[in-house]
Order: sequence, then structure tokens, then C-alpha cells
Amino acid sequence: MWQNARVRWTALMPPMTLEDLGWNDDFAASFAPYAAEGLIPARVVAQRGLNRVSTGEAESYADLAGRLRHELEGPGGSSGYPAVGDWVAFRPPTGEGRGLIHAVLPRRSRFSRKVAGNRTEEQVVAANVDTLFLVSGLDGDFNPRRIERYLTAAWDSGARPVVILNKLDRCAEPDRCLLEAEAVARGVPVHRVSAKTGEGCEALLQYLKPGETVSLLGSSGVGKSTLINRLLGREAQRTGDVREGDDRGRHTTTHRELLPLPAGGLLIDTPGLREVQLWEGDQGIESTFGDVEELAEGCRFSDCRHLGEPGCAVEEAVARGHLARGRLESYHKLQREQHQIQIKQDELARLREKQKNKAAQRALREHYRLKPRGD
Ligand code: GDP
Ligand code: ZN
Repeated sequence: MWQNARVRWTALMPPMTLEDLGWNDDFAASFAPYAAEGLIPARVVAQRGLNRVSTGEAESYADLAGRLRHELEGPGGSSGYPAVGDWVAFRPPTGEGRGLIHAVLPRRSRFSRKVAGNRTEEQVVAANVDTLFLVSGLDGDFNPRRIERYLTAAWDSGARPVVILNKLDRCAEPDRCLLEAEAVARGVPVHRVSAKTGEGCEALLQYLKPGETVSLLGSSGVGKSTLINRLLGREAQRTGDVREGDDRGRHTTTHRELLPLPAGGLLIDTPGLREVQLWEGDQGIESTFGDVEELAEGCRFSDCRHLGEPGCAVEEAVARGHLARGRLESYHKLQREQHQIQIKQDELARLREKQKNKAAQRALREHYRLKPRGD
């Protein structure tokens, strides 16, 4: 029975309501047709080979229902697989064993990466994140260009970015770093903290209200695990101090990748999200580089690429010192990456179209029992 098979939250994680787990009216509205089929809402809390879902009250492993699996196996289906943070229409197990996921509800936000290998297919690594902490280190590694990159990824995802400058205790010029970060963040909140000493961390509580889902993005070594442990109030994630040399797994101490925080709120930490790449960046580039886009209005050519064209207002702004050269360079770099991804996506779309046409022709031939020419 579901009751027998259920695994309670451990003592640190008391049972919670659906709302505490992030459920809201939007999800409820898209869930309505499934409720009529007797399914219940559940959220994917981990995904180590198997999906693990929680209803707030109980947890269980879950397989994909046959029809959903079939749908997702087709071309372009890869982004439809449930990811950590997804809300799903769930049928609990009737005996011992696993339940079934019948559908994935529309996402409020999602982080994707290309699936491994050369295929340009989208794999979602985390879904329904409300706030994304973009973590940078304030030590020697501080780099506003990287913050720009992460901001682009964040805007694409649909989550609200918050810039976190960690290792405040190691920073000789915290004010200069704050100014530099604020200059690229353009209105996005910036917080300086020390995950190690706890300084400044209380400011993050405003993003950790019940039902709110946060996640962290940032290069290796900036202190994400240390910050996560601080937010959790315990040593759930191994930090670099422990990791060095002795093991490869960062998640050996926990199975859950969506974790309730003692302050309220939920935290998603998946290995995939840590290495997220740009996927569809157009929207993101525009929001991140609003100043470049604004300047571009003044270019002589409406399709100016700001690469040596006459009458380029953007390059003029760089020459006059109104726009940092590095900023224009990262704009160009992101656009080039974007372009490459677009080319691959177009190829994929053409391929799918071809497959569809072939299938249609086959169906037609069968229908009229015509012999194709040359057969
Ligand atoms: P991650 O790779 O982003 O998860 O980074 P870790 O959390 O493993 O931290 C990398 C290293 O930075 C570890 O040695 C941490 O102890 C150290 N670290 C993390 N946060 C701080 C901080 O606020 N101040 C200082 N001085 N060191 C920190
Ligand atoms: Zn231009």
C-alpha cells in the first residue's frame, strides 16, 4: 500500500503542505483535468536514475506512465522529461513499489542544458525555481563578466536572479566589487555575504519564504556548498575542503535534490544545474545587455552588428569610454554562442520536418497502395 510504502521526511524535514512545497493557483489550474482522472499532484524532489516525488505528506519513487514515455521518446521530446522541481500528475503505488507520473505540469521556469553528445536536444535539469542565487567569489577570482553570463542564463530560465558576492571576509575592496557588480546587474539585487562566517547571510532570508524555491548557480569553488550548508543549518553538502582528493561525489550525503530549508522555502541543488549552459539566450541577452541594445538604436544601420560598421553608436560609446570594452566583448561572445546554438536548432528542426514528411508519404502510399517510383 501507498501508506506502507511511504517514506516520511526525516526528522529534519517534517511533513509539509502542498503550498509549503511550492504549490499555487497556477499549478492548480493546470492540474484540474488530471484531478478529474483521480491523479494527485506531486513534486519531483530527486532524480538519481529514478524519479522521486513528494506530495508533502509522503514520498515515493515513480516511473513514467506508458503514454507519457511514448510521447517523450519521439523527436523533440527530451525537454518534456520530468526534472527536479517539476510538478507532476501522479498515481501513487497501489502496493509496494513505484507510482506513475502521467504528466508534467507547465513550468514557471526551467534550466536546460544540451543532452550529452552532439545531439542538440534540450534536457531540463531543474524546474520551477523562483529565485536564482548567482554566486561569485569576492576573492581573487572576482569577475563581473562572469556575472553577466550567469544573468543571461537566469533571465532565460524565467527565475528571478539575485547576485551573491561570497567570501566577503576575503575581500580587500568590498565597495569597489559591489559597485562593479551593480553596474552589470542593472537593477538586480546584489548581496555581499560570507558563507563561512555567516556575515550578510540574514539578508537572504527574504527569498526563502514558505513555498518559494531557490537555487544556486556559480563556478566551482565560489562557495555554493558552503552557502547551502549555512542555509540548511547543517552539513548536507560536502564543501571543497572535504571534497579535495577524497571523493568525486558532491551529493554523497543526501539523496534529495529539492530540500526544505529551516527558514521556510525550498532549495534545489542538482549536479546538472551547477554546470548549466546557455540554451535559448536571445531574450536573456536583451535583458542583460539593455544598455548595449539602447545604444544600438543610434547605429546608422538597423542591423548593425557593432563590428566596425560605419556610424556604429555602440563602438563610439566604447571609444568615448561610456561603455566598457569588456562588456561589448562579452556581448559579442554571447551572441556568437547564441548563433551557433541557433544553427544547430535549425538543423534539428529541418531534420524533424524531413522525418515527418517521410512518414506522411509512407502513410499516403499505404493508403493508396501505390508503389513508389524506383521500388
Ligand atoms: P562550491 O564548489 O561552489 O560548492 O564551493 P565550496 O562551498 O566547496 O567552497 C570552496 C572553498 O571556498 C572551500 O574551501 C570553502 O571553505 C571556501 N569558502 C566558501 N565560502 C567562503 C567564505 O565565505 N569565505 C571564505 N574565506 N572561504 C569560503
Ligand atoms: Zn552598431
